[in-house]
Amino acid sequence: TKMAYYFGKTKTEGKSNQKQLLGGKGANLADMTSIGLPVPPGFTITTEVCDLYYKHKQKLPPGLMDEVRKNVAILEKETGKKFGDSKLPLLVSVRSGAAASMPGMMNTILNLGLNDEAVVGLANATQNERFAYDSYRRLINMFGDVVSGVDHEHFEVAFAKIKKKYNAKVDNEVPSEGMIELCEAYKDVYKKDYGKPFPQDPLEQLEASIEAVFKSWMQPRAVKYRQVENITGLLGTAVNVQSMVFGNMGDDCGTGVAFTRNPSTGENKFYGEFLVNAQGEDVVAGIRTPLPVAEMPKWNKAIHKRLLEIKDLLESHYKDVQDIEFTIERGALYMLQTRNGKRTGAAAVKIACDMVKEKLIDEKTAVQRIPAGDLTQLLLPSFTPAAKATAKKDGKLLTVGLPASPGAAVGKLAFTASEAVERTHAGEKVLLVRKETNPEDIDGMHLAAGILTSTGGMTSHAAVVARGWGRCCVAGAGDVQIDEKARKIKVGSKTFTHNDVLSIDGSTGEVMLGEIATQEPKLSGDFATVMGWADKYRTLKVRTNADTPADAKRAREFGAEGIGLCRTEHMFFEGDRIVAMRAMILADNLADRKKALKNLLPLQRKDFIGLFTAMKGLPVTIRLLDPPLHEFLPHDAKAQGELAKELNVSPAFVKNRVAQLHEQNPMLGHRGCRLAVTYPEILETQVTAIVEAAIACVEKKIDAQVEIMIPLVGAAAELKMLRDQTQAVIDEVKEAKKFTGKLNILIGTMIEIPRAALTADQIGEQADFFSFGTNDLTQMTFGFSRDDINTFLPDYINNELLAQDPFQSLDVTGVGQLVEMGVTKGRSVKKGLKCGICGEHGGDPASIKFCHTVGLDYVSCSPFRVPIARLAAAQAAL
Ligand code: ADP
Ligand code: MG
Ligand code: MG
Repeated sequence: TKMAYYFGKTKTEGKSNQKQLLGGKGANLADMTSIGLPVPPGFTITTEVCDLYYKHKQKLPPGLMDEVRKNVAILEKETGKKFGDSKLPLLVSVRSGAAASMPGMMNTILNLGLNDEAVVGLANATQNERFAYDSYRRLINMFGDVVSGVDHEHFEVAFAKIKKKYNAKVDNEVPSEGMIELCEAYKDVYKKDYGKPFPQDPLEQLEASIEAVFKSWMQPRAVKYRQVENITGLLGTAVNVQSMVFGNMGDDCGTGVAFTRNPSTGENKFYGEFLVNAQGEDVVAGIRTPLPVAEMPKWNKAIHKRLLEIKDLLESHYKDVQDIEFTIERGALYMLQTRNGKRTGAAAVKIACDMVKEKLIDEKTAVQRIPAGDLTQLLLPSFTPAAKATAKKDGKLLTVGLPASPGAAVGKLAFTASEAVERTHAGEKVLLVRKETNPEDIDGMHLAAGILTSTGGMTSHAAVVARGWGRCCVAGAGDVQIDEKARKIKVGSKTFTHNDVLSIDGSTGEVMLGEIATQEPKLSGDFATVMGWADKYRTLKVRTNADTPADAKRAREFGAEGIGLCRTEHMFFEGDRIVAMRAMILADNLADRKKALKNLLPLQRKDFIGLFTAMKGLPVTIRLLDPPLHEFLPHDAKAQGELAKELNVSPAFVKNRVAQLHEQNPMLGHRGCRLAVTYPEILETQVTAIVEAAIACVEKKIDAQVEIMIPLVGAAAELKMLRDQTQAVIDEVKEAKKFTGKLNILIGTMIEIPRAALTADQIGEQADFFSFGTNDLTQMTFGFSRDDINTFLPDYINNELLAQDPFQSLDVTGVGQLVEMGVTKGRSVKKGLKCGICGEHGGDPASIKFCHTVGLDYVSCSPFRVPIARLAAAQAAL
């Protein structure tokens, strides 16, 4: 099979739709070449070769280097330069690039092809000795780092010496002689550290670099990044070998990165940074402070104009925001990369709306363009203006950095990624404070509440990664001096330690002392537009899990179309209700139990009236008591003593009763409908409260749509018995209230025990609706305790035994079969049986897609995930 694809004037073999084979970078380099953009020519070695490399004990496949040599020959012909030539040497970059973008996670080598002879050739050909040796020292450095594992520190030390000798503060100030000396010093470092001299044969350099790029596919930070980003199923990375263009030849040269629109806010304004006389990663690495592209006209008007033209061309070609890398060599502009730009949730929404207005994309595309999960960022809190104003008046504003990724974060200071990980796991909220982050920090960045860096621009590593995740980030706060070893920062004259709390505003860049109050976001404008489109295209309904009228109200504002799960047990913890509840549980005879329940009834009735009122006209699913009773009792002696006093019984009695209720496996114990079987009076009280509330509402002309849900059913007989009891109570209450109007009450069940799914046809006979309780269903299908899974889940993920936490994203293969079977069997006996899902999965986009596919009527999720579910449901339908 073909292992390399050429791109250039001679021929362009790759296509934009070959990302799997050529990687995103390779496919787009070919594509940009095809549409006539100025791309330095080169060729792409396929991801299949990377796959072969790993399949054959990390050996480059036979024939590869032949194909490479053939392509190098074409490249030499096209450019008129020769590898290793002492007159006009060909230099190339060797660049990684997988199908999914993994910015900075793998390796790149620049200026390859230089050796002691070629560097002289380059100096002569360009009449620029300094530049030639600057390029050579970069190659020895990068090749040493990436290919030969030379300790980076040793290069730094050598460079510092030269800088000192020539009194240079920054790299640019080192003169030509200094660069020549530096190359010699670097070669010594290389030889001393690696044991062999720096290779002079360009093809040997190339082969080793190709292999190093393949190796970088499996280096820990790349593996970790794929894990965090859920990138699976790729063959590996491609390798792009591309002729070099030089941004480091002088002051008419430069390099930059840009976004066609603002990736933070979505504003339709070209956005980026560039550095004059610089190469490669200099911009991202934050060695010198780059200039915003808006200031480019002052430097070179024509290039700026050309860049804007290319920006428009790229957007109309890809119909999406592009993240580009470019280099200017002696006044000529070259494109080195383009890809769809990562953006914040807010930017994604704005860009989608703007592009529909600009007729660049249609509504359906817009709906599909926004990662549903990213909407959380728009639902993120911000600092309340009042609290912020007060803080500022009180002199709490310490400094202002760059607004790198929006949001509001409050936390104590953590100075390393691993510290951030540890302290977060220990339950602390921390801000990760770094000079600049690098890819090794990603797990700490992922867990921290926010990220604060003291150097680096808007396109620095920290900024890019944070925006991708919607993590709040303030970058380049230059006033912050970080002493990582002492775990202290200094801002002006003030010093703060790991125990101080700061508040950072990722939308303004402000860094403030202390904890500042936050507020909920507003849901209008573009957000409402997108939600409108989502509602137009989705068929799944979206309900919410809510236990209180306040939650219910918020969820309605987010667009919930009913309550899919009201957990009644939460009602018993409020105020002094718990006392009545405990009295009920502790009662050792029916009469006492009934007495205690009687006290709870009016309180519950009031709760239900509140819920029905908040959700008027929309269905409200109320689950009867589910948890085991001991969860309501105190477990320590002191609290038990107090309870005994309150209830006028002996402490020994309480202790004894708690012991009686103890279970080895409470999750599989006396809970759910089993409680109602043992204590029918509990069911009776709850149903009475529900029906009385419904009647009260109907009498006030409030349309109550009630669904009574019986949990943890495993057999049709259980449901039949409890359904009959429920119906009897409904009839009794109506009779007692002399109510003759119409009540809308359905009686249904949860499908959360595998046996219920297996016998859903029998259970369906007894149920007006099914609601899949996928938390318990997952627990019982896997046999994983959901409360204890964290002790072993990381090992399962690391060993790829599980792709993800099955409690977060529904296990479609296993648990999904039970859901599908439940729906099919249920509907086989009751056509159109109403089916929904009320586990955590109801708010997870991938799980929602599955729910749509198996034909559920609705998903139910927590109020804050309702907008996400609406969008995900639309995406599933399109
Ligand atoms: P990453 O995937 O980490 O962004 P790249 O392969 O894009 O790595 O390379 C990093 C940088 O190196 C590019 O942004 C560009 O500035 C520079 N670079 C790569 N190839 C070339 C080239 N052929 N000529 C000039 N600069 C290059
Ligand atoms: Mg790049
Ligand atoms: Mg359950």
